[in-house]
Amino acid sequence: MDSTENNKYVRLKRKIYLIIFPLLFITNASYWLFSPFVDHFMGLALPFLCLFFAIVWVLIYYNRLMRTCEIISLVVFGVYHLFRVYYLTAQLEEGIINVYVLWSPIYFVYIFMVLERKKALAYSLLILLITIVMGIPHLHNPRANDTLIQFYISTVLYTLILFYFQRIVSAYIESDMLRKNAYYDSLTDIGNRRAVDTWIENEIKRCNESSSVFSIIYFDIDHFKRINDEYGHDVGDYVLKEFSSLVKSYIRSSDFFGRWGGEEFIILTNRSLTESIQFSERLRIIIENHSFRYVDHVTASFGVSYFQPNDVPKTIVKRADQALYSAKNNGRNRVITV
Ligand code: GH3
Ligand code: MG
Ligand code: MG
Repeated sequence: MDSTENNKYVRLKRKIYLIIFPLLFITNASYWLFSPFVDHFMGLALPFLCLFFAIVWVLIYYNRLMRTCEIISLVVFGVYHLFRVYYLTAQLEEGIINVYVLWSPIYFVYIFMVLERKKALAYSLLILLITIVMGIPHLHNPRANDTLIQFYISTVLYTLILFYFQRIVSAYIESDMLRKNAYYDSLTDIGNRRAVDTWIENEIKRCNESSSVFSIIYFDIDHFKRINDEYGHDVGDYVLKEFSSLVKSYIRSSDFFGRWGGEEFIILTNRSLTESIQFSERLRIIIENHSFRYVDHVTASFGVSYFQPNDVPKTIVKRADQALYSAKNNGRNRVITV
């Protein structure tokens, strides 16, 4: 995961904590206040835990010490977990199955939320090992034996599932990122040539299957080389970004807009040919009148082509390219269709 993905993950965890800690507070407070089963240990532990949940919630809410809160919570919950399992184990000899068996897996989920997966696995196994040691004196008792063994085995299974599940999730995020990057132009924040190719293929397929239509608007910044030569490559890059975000703010949500390469862009739209020409003309004027940050004057030339039956991606792009070529040859800063 890169740092932005990492930040996303931290923000997501924060959201989860902001929901979970108040829930834990309410559950424990009501258990402490109203349950008839609060023993001496729980009578001491519950108010302390409620205070702890409240403090952690306030700190996380104000974005303070989240990592420290996570680690301290891990230890506090760990101690609490061990005490509860200790009582649970002892009660098994009397044939009582404490309700904590239901809650115990949540602690392992939390471990995997806080720690990196290998550390989480090691820490979980350590906690499990301590609970096994606590159970050894009770294993001779047939009433305790069966439940205890199942408790340990299910904990091992939960831990392994979490370990592999975390791996599946990170592999999924990684492949999602790779897929996104493969179709994405990082400079201009729009689709790249591969994305445009895919859109054209999909649109042709859609139009062949139904009676819909689409146009390609192929446009190219005029004399872009001069911008690079005069102001430098960085300003050239900045113009490409500003140009793309300007165009992006004028397209419809149903239009596709991508960078075909260099200073060439393509819009796919479901407008009719006349509407596409009018829209291109509008864009041309918007670009011409826009005051760019470093180079206040930029123009672009436009070639428009319309879907014809029997079109393949190459043919429809070629017609738009020919139209653009004419626009360039006829003085630039104009819209031409073929
Ligand atoms: P025309 O009006 O005929 O389109 O002229 P032009 O100068 O815009 O076209 P030409 O194809 O001669 O030059 C395009 C230039 O765009 C050349 C290349 O260095 C520049 N370019 C391509 N990609 C990038 C980029 O990512 N960043 C910058 N800064 N320049 C780029
Ligand atoms: Mg150009
Ligand atoms: Mg060009």
